Amino acid sequence: MSFSVEQRGNQNSLSYRLFFKNAEGKYISPFHDIPMYADEGQNIFHMVVEVPRWTNAKMEIATKDLLNPIKQDVKKGKLRYVANVFPHKGYIWNYGAIPQTWEDPAHKDGDTGCCGDNDPIDVCEIGSKVCSRGDVIKVKVLGILAMIDEGETDWKVIAINVDDPEASEFNNIGDVRRLKPGYLEATVNWFRRYKVPDGKPENQFAFNEEFKDKDFAIEVIKSTHNFWNTLISQKVNAGELNCKNTCVSAGDSPFCCSADEATAAVGETWPCGKEEPVPSSVDKWFYYERK
Ligand SMILES: [Mg+2]
Repeated sequence: MSFSVEQRGNQNSLSYRLFFKNAEGKYISPFHDIPMYADEGQNIFHMVVEVPRWTNAKMEIATKDLLNPIKQDVKKGKLRYVANVFPHKGYIWNYGAIPQTWEDPAHKDGDTGCCGDNDPIDVCEIGSKVCSRGDVIKVKVLGILAMIDEGETDWKVIAINVDDPEASEFNNIGDVRRLKPGYLEATVNWFRRYKVPDGKPENQFAFNEEFKDKDFAIEVIKSTHNFWNTLISQKVNAGELNCKNTCVSAGDSPFCCSADEATAAVGETWPCGKEEPVPSSVDKWFYYERK
């Protein structure tokens, strides 16, 4: 299965969009149309890369837009960039989401006691390659961290690209601890503090800030896939989420989007243009006294 992307608008501007196509060149939704599993028997999942390692632009699947292109998050009319909290530069993994998953905001998680954040489940990919925005990669799941962000459950799956040269050596969270010393601690600290320079409180974590293992992670991912299934089959109200898709829902579903409708929707967005400069303030380093 192969996928490609098509840029619209100007990079580093409000008009930027990254649309997805399947192998036949048909527009698809990366949220709904890319299968969760790349290989179900081997527990290999697809991951949509939203933010390449060492970059700062907070790019994400636009869950409320038709065809759910990747676009940059906007706050108070301004493009969002994550702060560099010393010693980090941007995101410290390739960051993205597993398609066909949903953290249901109406479901209170039994372990965290908090409801979902209304997004697909997040993934931190720890391989050595710096991926590109919009890459759809196959990942092996290694563990999971239960972040609590302003009272919402926001799971962070830890995974490795199956194409990484060292992928065969990584089979559980303990392998990350052993073979990439410091990475898990840095991951917790990154998530704890990344919003503090924006005036937000530190994030909290369930399970005494400990990572759960691979089996636990896979169960969490499966449960978010079940929530997504209730969403796409209209068993729950989608609210503001845009569930239109070109491959999953039958023609009689209100979520079914024809190829013509998809092409027309993309055609209404800004044509691909030149890249805008990134503000130099994005390079600032924030120093933070460890409590
Ligand atoms: Mg999330």
